[in-house]
Amino acid sequence: MMEEFFLTNQKESQEVFFRIVESVCKAAAKVIEEASAETESSQDGNTVTAYSGLPPLELRRLLNSGSILPDDGKGFDAVIKHMEAAVLPNLVRTASPGYMAHLHSPVLLESLAAELVISVFNQSMDSWDQSPAATEIEVLVVKELCRLFGYGEEADGVFTSGGSQSNTTAILLARDYICRTKLQHDVKKLGLPAGYRKFKMYASEVSHFSMEKSAHLLGLGYNAVEKVPVDSRRKMDADKLEELVERDIAAGCIPFCIAVTAGTTDYGSIDPVDRIAALCKKHGIWLHADAAYGSGLIMSQKYKSRLGGINSCDSITVDFHKMFLQPISCGAVLVKDGANFSSLELHADYLNREEDEEDGYINLVGKSMQTTRRFDALKIWTSFQVRGRNGWDNIISTCVDNASYVYGKLSGGTDFETISPPEISSVVFRVLPSTEKEETFTDEMNKSIRRTLLHKKGIVIGQTVDSGRVFLKFTLLNPTVTHDYLDKLLELILSLRNDYMPQS
Ligand SMILES: *Cc1c(COP(=O)(O)O)cnc(C)c1O
Repeated sequence: MMEEFFLTNQKESQEVFFRIVESVCKAAAKVIEEASAETESSQDGNTVTAYSGLPPLELRRLLNSGSILPDDGKGFDAVIKHMEAAVLPNLVRTASPGYMAHLHSPVLLESLAAELVISVFNQSMDSWDQSPAATEIEVLVVKELCRLFGYGEEADGVFTSGGSQSNTTAILLARDYICRTKLQHDVKKLGLPAGYRKFKMYASEVSHFSMEKSAHLLGLGYNAVEKVPVDSRRKMDADKLEELVERDIAAGCIPFCIAVTAGTTDYGSIDPVDRIAALCKKHGIWLHADAAYGSGLIMSQKYKSRLGGINSCDSITVDFHKMFLQPISCGAVLVKDGANFSSLELHADYLNREEDEEDGYINLVGKSMQTTRRFDALKIWTSFQVRGRNGWDNIISTCVDNASYVYGKLSGGTDFETISPPEISSVVFRVLPSTEKEETFTDEMNKSIRRTLLHKKGIVIGQTVDSGRVFLKFTLLNPTVTHDYLDKLLELILSLRNDYMPQS
């Protein structure tokens, strides 16, 4: 039984707090320690495998044994022991150099500490009286972000649960803005205008699926999203976009938003923002940048120019639980003219009274789709100060350099096929058979190599489909990954290929 409930001024409560937090820390460190790979070369770097747990069915069986709601509590020690035995070893270890499947990052130590503060104090960002300093810090962090992305004084932003929510928020503001300015229609009060089926938004064919999801959530449906073809580098084809927009306008449609992707989920490709900005300007269309992945580039002196004139976009999705190495969840949406957030403003007597706001109490709920909301801004406040501009520059530039290094190794030979040079830190490739084989053989071989890496080698890499064929993917978000590690990984992949090839 657990006697204590909360962290209070009572000595007993504090002792329990220290003890249980310490025991969780120790359990985590122990499981990670045990997961370090037995490598032939006795190197003393980070050799933790990304996964050495059970395959899906066995794992389900293990976790399904015993009731999770017993009549009488078992107490903390018993539960943490069970967690240490059954749960922790079967989690992926995101800080492993071999964890590179998704845009799913390891987490910085200082942000872990901030995360503990976030939970211990449990502030809620909806109103000032639930989050006094937290509200002020989110405002400060948002200001700094607006400056970083080259926005002016009118800009504003809000923290979100991540890229998807940022995209939905931005597209909602875009929809309402166009209704207000082009149709003199207030969506907030009246719902969608009669001609809403004519609304069109545009995103590339390799954009994130939150575009369609947002269109659905906003009452417009998937069909409102025109998927624009991409060029050979998987960047939106600006000529095709222009044709589509002009075709739609001529047909009486209302293009309300163009969403460029600054860092596509699979390839990290960046749509040509500058050309598209000119098109938006010409037709009065809201320009949104989905920089969930690519936003990290802003920290790199060497690579930030790849984002182009991102500050000409009306809104920007920034995700911190990807390149910025923050614990989930942590994202933001920035808006060039913050007045557009009025779409989300609504006053309630029990929460965010207008009279309070007149007296200087800031209630951030007026900019968010959420009500109760986490103090995620603290993690950025902390890790920006801990690492500074130079520390961040180094983190991001290293990851981008690693991708271009591995691309160099993959391209040019006959063992691998690549798609295009990486603009950020993802490299998509496939392994080619050592003798001529059918495409379906190559597909199956690549799938098998990925599964073998996952279950036999503790390495988690990505898999996707490009032009109907199976491809593999490295997503390099971990700045401690070395060229040597990448060399060895490619050697390992080639040896798995050779094992897979039929022996003659
Ligand atoms: C990851 C990603 C998203 C979604 O972000 P979440 O934080 O997972 O909601 C949106 N767009 C792009 C381009 C992404 O890579």
